[in-house]
Amino acid sequence: MRKQVSAIKGTKDILPREAKKWQSVESVTKRILELYSYKEIRTPVFEATELFEKGTGQTTDIVIKEMYTFQDKAGRSLTLRPEYTPSVVRSIIENRLYLKPEPLRFYYIGPMFRYDKPQKGRYRQFHQVDIEVFGEEDPAIDAEIVEMANYLLKELKVSYTETLVNSVGCKDCRPSYIKDLRSQAEEVRRVLCLDCQRKLKLNPLRIFDCKVETCREAAQAFPRITDYLCQDCEEHFSRFCDYLAFYSIKYKVEPRLVRGIDYYTKTTFEVVSSKLGAQNTLIGGGRYDDMMKEFGGPDLCGIGFAMGLERLISVVPFTEEKGKFLYLVYLGDESERAGMKAVHFLRREGVECLIEYKERSMKSQMSRANKLGAAWALIIGEEEVKKRKYKLKNMATGLQMEGTQEEILKIIRESP
Ligand code: AMP
Repeated sequence: MRKQVSAIKGTKDILPREAKKWQSVESVTKRILELYSYKEIRTPVFEATELFEKGTGQTTDIVIKEMYTFQDKAGRSLTLRPEYTPSVVRSIIENRLYLKPEPLRFYYIGPMFRYDKPQKGRYRQFHQVDIEVFGEEDPAIDAEIVEMANYLLKELKVSYTETLVNSVGCKDCRPSYIKDLRSQAEEVRRVLCLDCQRKLKLNPLRIFDCKVETCREAAQAFPRITDYLCQDCEEHFSRFCDYLAFYSIKYKVEPRLVRGIDYYTKTTFEVVSSKLGAQNTLIGGGRYDDMMKEFGGPDLCGIGFAMGLERLISVVPFTEEKGKFLYLVYLGDESERAGMKAVHFLRREGVECLIEYKERSMKSQMSRANKLGAAWALIIGEEEVKKRKYKLKNMATGLQMEGTQEEILKIIRESP
């Protein structure tokens, strides 16, 4: 027996019925993002490895363990993007978009790749909707993107969500926090997993990303970053919270919300869903005020979020629209040709038509139209060809009408 080739672990096929749901979620998402004046940007799926090492950060799980990195034939080290922000930053600098008058508000929908342990809600190829804004310092934008995220979920009829917010400080105030965090974490080193023991030295903030129960418990007693904020960060955070209240957004301050990426400054936030299992974060984001400068670009602050589509789609209610297509039923060569012509005409007028090039009896074609959920059957036999008038059957009501292709189009257009 021949051996089957299977899909790679952690990847999955989106089959036509599910793809319909994806299309619908994507189109609602695009509509909302465009209402807030975001423009689509598309960048390559792979980039130079150093882009993520530098951008996402050397101490993150993503860079240490999860990147799909390979050498191309010219010996360059390339990486399938594990997240989107560094690519957008690179593209803005490379294309000097910051010199243009247009606001720097971008969105993107596409696949990301992480070599993580697959489980429900966690895949190795997954899809994100990302948004990024550059050059807006005021916390009003932080609140606006949280408001937009909430509005989007509302439009998608996703309920049972909670918005968590935090501030991770900046280059000025974070070092003293890290110092205290490290020394307190050192005291409980024994209960931390090996990974976290390593993080202690590299970047103790990353201990908060750990999902191991003993580490999570230990982290409860660690100092809170919100107690260490400098005046600027403190003020930014309190104004951000005021704006959330202005939008009537319910939120919870979660001081352990540091997110798994090194570049965040000030605001971080997540929208979690109680309908998801262990992987309950639907949307995650935050501010990254230093990244553009660190990549040699202008001193422009940035903020954004990413929403996981697989997780989102699993909680979006969806009722499949009934098919609106017309199925051609014909008998013999001449009716086939007449049918092809009619279908050609109707498709150009925007009617979805299906013609199958197989010899079948009228009865079996009618039962196929029924089984496939066609809205209409267009029936063409010898007599109809002679008269140039075809029979149109409304599959829902069973009513049958007769007419030229133009008359048929009119009936279809006028039907509710
Ligand atoms: P992150 O880029 O890690 O901040 O993640 C942003 C969002 O992407 C998360 O809230 C999830 O919804 C989604 N996400 C991240 N990693 C995965 C994964 N491995 N599989 C599926 N969705 C993911």
